Amino acid sequence: MENLCPDCGQALMWESGVYVCNPCDNTFIKQGYCNTCSAQLERLQACGSTSYFCHECNELTSRSTANIVFEAKKRCLKDTVFPSARSHHRIVD
Ligand SMILES: [Zn+2]
Ligand SMILES: [Zn+2]
Repeated sequence: MENLCPDCGQALMWESGVYVCNPCDNTFIKQGYCNTCSAQLERLQACGSTSYFCHECNELTSRSTANIVFEAKKRCLKDTVFPSARSHHRIVD
């Protein structure tokens, strides 16, 4: 199965844990979502095959039934921490 960039359709390069698109200068991660409840799935790697686990349904989802999408990954580490989550904690305090 070829991994194609959702933006430009070019083949993505696998590079140190992420997918890289050179034409877009963008980095993607493969993320699975549950078809039943739309929750983010945890990726499980076993014996060379990949399966996904839904913590909401408490069920193992096979790669073919999971909703697999490429999500753009921000290069800047600061962007991975959601500012809204941070300010929320401050309000709670
Ligand atoms: Zn691209
Ligand atoms: Zn689910």
